Amino acid sequence: MLIPFNDLKRNFKIFQSELEAKAIDVLRSGWYVLGKECEAFENEFSRTLGVRYCIGVDNGLNAIKLGCHALGIGPGDEVIVQANTYIATVLGITLNGATPIFVEPNIFYNIDCDHIIKNITSRTKAVLVTHLYGQASDMTDISLLCKKYNLYLLEDCAQSHFAKFNNQYTGTFGIMGFFSFYPTKNLGAIGDAGCVVTDDENLADKIRVLRNYGSKERYHNIIEGYNARLDEIQAAFLRVKLKYIEKITHEREAIANQYLQRISNPKILLPKIAVGATHVWYLFVIQVEERNAFRKFLSDNGITTDVHYPIPPHLSEAYKGLGYTPGSFPFTEKLASSVVSIPLFNGLLQEEIDYVIKVVNEYGT
Ligand SMILES: *Cc1c(COP(=O)(O)O)cnc(C)c1O
Repeated sequence: MLIPFNDLKRNFKIFQSELEAKAIDVLRSGWYVLGKECEAFENEFSRTLGVRYCIGVDNGLNAIKLGCHALGIGPGDEVIVQANTYIATVLGITLNGATPIFVEPNIFYNIDCDHIIKNITSRTKAVLVTHLYGQASDMTDISLLCKKYNLYLLEDCAQSHFAKFNNQYTGTFGIMGFFSFYPTKNLGAIGDAGCVVTDDENLADKIRVLRNYGSKERYHNIIEGYNARLDEIQAAFLRVKLKYIEKITHEREAIANQYLQRISNPKILLPKIAVGATHVWYLFVIQVEERNAFRKFLSDNGITTDVHYPIPPHLSEAYKGLGYTPGSFPFTEKLASSVVSIPLFNGLLQEEIDYVIKVVNEYGT
């Protein structure tokens, strides 16, 4: 049996008739950027999440970049971020000229409040939490800490659409939440897309201005902005999929639960879920000591795996200027050399789930 790591064609087929109808609507409308689809998506997404404002942007990285920009985070400012996050989280900080302060994650792969405390300085402006792989971070202590030290609490929700901590959605704890709708994400567009969510009216206004050349009114440019708008066709596609987000999440949960209950191999460490957190399973990430051997065994048996992520941002070439060396973040580096993601996507068949479990359990025996 051949099992891909992901299969976006299957995902498309689930929504095919509605997406195609929407595509034709938008194509024939003659209106392609900043129109009623974008506005409707913003309203529907913010209502579903329970926030006042959603501002559609062109991708998740720009959501973070514009968000930090809107808060005035720039040169000389420090933003605390977990060392094992995807590099886009960090780029959102550094492209504004600010400095990322990396901290080690906990056993749930998420940021740890105790590590945040130790890294607060007079330059710290914000804590940027990534709810990594789809599991909500423990937000109770982090929220209190940010209030106490007067830090902006920011959430990278690119992997955690509608995951909850203590029954509250990720993206609604801090002053701003950032979402990506890259095609592989739980809520995925047919191309690039993202959004910023916030309850703060001034910030919402500022993001709207920033995404459109720094203008609110055409040709009246009040600040230097970007072009970071969400296309009508992507917004229209997202509106279709948003209606099914609960179903999308449940299907992923059902696959993950089978993996959690039926994978049993002393060589494999399964993901753990923290008390109070829900996990929406953007990725199912296990740890294996001899990763290459494990990946080869699966590949020899027709199963494709992936690694999220093999090089932590502090060791990437792009950030060699920050001066980190191997050993700077031992736990993060250990994770980078032992994590493996196994196939989990909408449309994965029961016989394929059974086969993945069988092969994973056979490894090393
Ligand atoms: C995907 C992702 C991003 C970036 O989103 P894009 O839409 O690809 O720009 C940022 N942070 C995390 C954690 C992501 O997984």
